[in-house]
Amino acid sequence: HPPFDVNGVRRDFPILAERVNGRPLIWLDNAATTQKPQVVIDRLAHFYAHENSNIHRAAHALAARATDAYEKARRTVARFLGAGSVDEIVFVRGATEAINLVAKSWGWQHVGEGDEIVVSQLEHHANIVPWQQLAAARGATLRVIPVDDSGQILLGEYRRLLNGRTRLVAVTQVSNALGTITPVAEIVELAHRAGARVLVDGAQAVSHLRVDVKALDADFYVFSGHKVFAPTGIGVVYGKAEVLEDMPPWQGGGNMIRDVTFERTLYQPPPGRFEAGTGNIADAVGLGAALDYLERLGLENVARYEHELLEYATDGLRRVPGLRLIGTAQDKTSVLSFVLDGYRPEEVGSELNREGIAVRAGHHCAQPILRRFGLEATVRPSLAFYNTCEEVDTLLRVLRRLAR
Ligand code: PMP
Repeated sequence: HPPFDVNGVRRDFPILAERVNGRPLIWLDNAATTQKPQVVIDRLAHFYAHENSNIHRAAHALAARATDAYEKARRTVARFLGAGSVDEIVFVRGATEAINLVAKSWGWQHVGEGDEIVVSQLEHHANIVPWQQLAAARGATLRVIPVDDSGQILLGEYRRLLNGRTRLVAVTQVSNALGTITPVAEIVELAHRAGARVLVDGAQAVSHLRVDVKALDADFYVFSGHKVFAPTGIGVVYGKAEVLEDMPPWQGGGNMIRDVTFERTLYQPPPGRFEAGTGNIADAVGLGAALDYLERLGLENVARYEHELLEYATDGLRRVPGLRLIGTAQDKTSVLSFVLDGYRPEEVGSELNREGIAVRAGHHCAQPILRRFGLEATVRPSLAFYNTCEEVDTLLRVLRRLAR
């Protein structure tokens, strides 16, 4: 393979030339959100300069342009995820809204008194709270798959949790707090054998791994655009056609209807049924541009480069005195979580910020998994393909200075 042209790629991201506190910005907060390439910024500007209109309604030229651009983005997402049909792609605000949609629609339909929902200990609050709310409202129970000391899901424990009352398994493909890549294929297969549906939270996976929802056989797969180099405020629910067909709408309004009288409303088939009101048209188009960009780089190339970078950073962090890495699973991607003797994580975060280095310090919206390791917070540098070994060196230099 030719070496990954990281310097060429960096020039695609104007913000990476920014300076912070007199230093070049080192963006290591990619698990919180990713930066946007110029092609995405340009695509948004082009939309507003030449195509802006509401969609699906008026019979005029701009409505047709906007509709075409929006529906093209949907086809791009379908291709990116390996979906069987473009109708399996619903646009929402982000992963959080995606999970709430499934909980409110599918959940209220299928989860009742005495039923069980299984999540893992690794989940982001977005993949815990909606299920907790659903369970409380329906008299169901939330069961939790524990992880081992490396932060990997215990498949044996998972097997024991599954039973005839399990309706849904909701798991992340990549942990945002630890970087663990979970064995989602096995998780899906075991759930299906138990007669349960599966929602995979792909928020941290899509920017690092090639995803194929058909091969995975996931019933739902959700992600946020902003974590995959696209704008904020746009995200995706993939749902198997036959599953979406049977689901009731979760919000009512314009666009999602076929016919309305005061006596009754007939709904659109999916995906329209789940897109009430005016959606985030421009940012959906921006998402399409971001996924096209990522495909041009090649997810396999990105994954290979990021793996090397992760190994390099892991190696370096292990050698910082008094630093404890949290999350040491064999299968990991792009997230490093640690605590440093003598400092609160927030203190490390602000020391790094003074050097122009952006990391997250806190609980990363995943309190249960940090508490599994006896912690309330960690420092979390998280990598993307535009990060370099030199940036990692700068991070290590500051941490070694603090450790002295
Ligand atoms: N799941 C995971 C694994 C995440 O990392 C995040 C974002 N931190 C979310 C869900 C929620 O995504 P959003 O805030 O974009 O809705």
